[in-house]
Amino acid sequence: MEDDVIRRERKYSQSRNKVPGTVLLLVIVVALCLCGFFIMSGLGAEDEKPADPVTVDVNMENISKADPDPNAGEDPNPVKEPDPEPVKEPEEDTRPVIVIDPGHGGTQPGNVAYLADGSEILEKNITLPMSYKLKADFEEAGYRVILCRDGDVNASLGERAEISNQSDALVFVSIHCNSYTDPDVYGLRVYYETDKEISKELSKTSLKLAQRVSSATASAGIKSRVNVDDFQVLRENKKPSILVETGFMTNPEELLRLLDDEYQAKMMKAICDGVLSYIKNDMPKPAEQ
Ligand SMILES: [Zn+2]
Repeated sequence: MEDDVIRRERKYSQSRNKVPGTVLLLVIVVALCLCGFFIMSGLGAEDEKPADPVTVDVNMENISKADPDPNAGEDPNPVKEPDPEPVKEPEEDTRPVIVIDPGHGGTQPGNVAYLADGSEILEKNITLPMSYKLKADFEEAGYRVILCRDGDVNASLGERAEISNQSDALVFVSIHCNSYTDPDVYGLRVYYETDKEISKELSKTSLKLAQRVSSATASAGIKSRVNVDDFQVLRENKKPSILVETGFMTNPEELLRLLDDEYQAKMMKAICDGVLSYIKNDMPKPAEQ
């Protein structure tokens, strides 16, 4: 009886001890599961990382196809920015080249004259609009024009000649306005250089160019002649080159004409025609060289 009681008590105590043991076991199992889950989810996240760019790439493709703004929702890529190739554009532009040199500019006003009302006229402010008109004429004829200065800026004579020398220019044309002590002297003069160090042949082609331009301006009703003088932009030039003194600012009537938009346009058209006539008739063709 007594044994029986003890056994029952043991069984009871065993069954009482079993409950917390099971709970503990359950807690451990749950804890292990949770740890396993966190570890697995952690590893899984790492595993999924390399897959991310693929989905982003796909999205980016979709965006770039659907959205006209390629920068929208996309990280800017600074590595791609230093890639521009500006060299390609000039290569694709196969138009023949003319260099136009608008005389003076910036701190170099050139000749200075005064109108009857006392207003000051600077040569640099006449040669620039003239050069823009000449540029437009050449472009209309299918040429590409390089300006030695674009705007009211300084450019040395050496730099102007160098721009011509570094280019594929067929011809170099410098635009100026003249001055003289005698106010009665007027008319356009086309200068070329005889003492070219490079070659006598170049001097001859420059003379032909000057003659064509003088002839074309004369045909347009402008008093014109060819002159020889030593100008740095011509002397240092390796292209057939002329300097056009478009008129005398010291002659009051011619000064007004030089400022006239229509007169400028007529004169520049004639200079362009003269240059085109030289290119067509006197310039050696590439096949003949
Ligand atoms: Zn000048």
